[in-house]
Amino acid sequence: KVGYTYNEAFVESNNKTLVKHIMGMPITIDESYSVYKTVLLMFEKDIGTIFITKDGNLSGIVSRKDLLRIAIGKRDIEQIPINLIMTRMPNIVFSTEDETIEDCVKKIIEHQIDSVPVVRITEKNGKEIYKVVGRFTKTNVSKLLLDILENKNKEKNE
Ligand code: ADP
Repeated sequence: KVGYTYNEAFVESNNKTLVKHIMGMPITIDESYSVYKTVLLMFEKDIGTIFITKDGNLSGIVSRKDLLRIAIGKRDIEQIPINLIMTRMPNIVFSTEDETIEDCVKKIIEHQIDSVPVVRITEKNGKEIYKVVGRFTKTNVSKLLLDILENKNKEKNE
């Protein structure tokens, strides 16, 4: 199930709302994507952060400002692959599905970022694979807050 209300999530997970209850769909691209194509995709999907994978494994993240920085330079952004400018592992701040909202919001504030990729960690040939399964953003947090406030108001009016 996706799109839980705050109260549903609260009850289902023993009084803890988890990242998986309110995370959104991730947008991921391959490392070989050009900066130009990434800019187009960001407009098309109307999101601020795009995740980059290599063979299905999370390898990077790129934000609006990363793209602006390279776009104001004199270089041909159709020729520059996204992996040249992305923030890469091991510097990516991520979350897992079963992390609490509280822990994840702390990461966002502490690192001053807009979103974190939500990953499922598996092992393949003795190597850890980070599969991207979601995206947790400040917008998710705002919606959750609204849900909480509206539920409170409902209780008051009853
Ligand atoms: P913007 O740059 O559009 O304001 P952010 O504040 O999210 O967006 O990003 C600031 C910087 O941090 C960028 O260089 C970006 O690549 C990097 N960044 C964004 N999200 C993460 C993350 N989850 N982990 C590590 N670095 C990140």
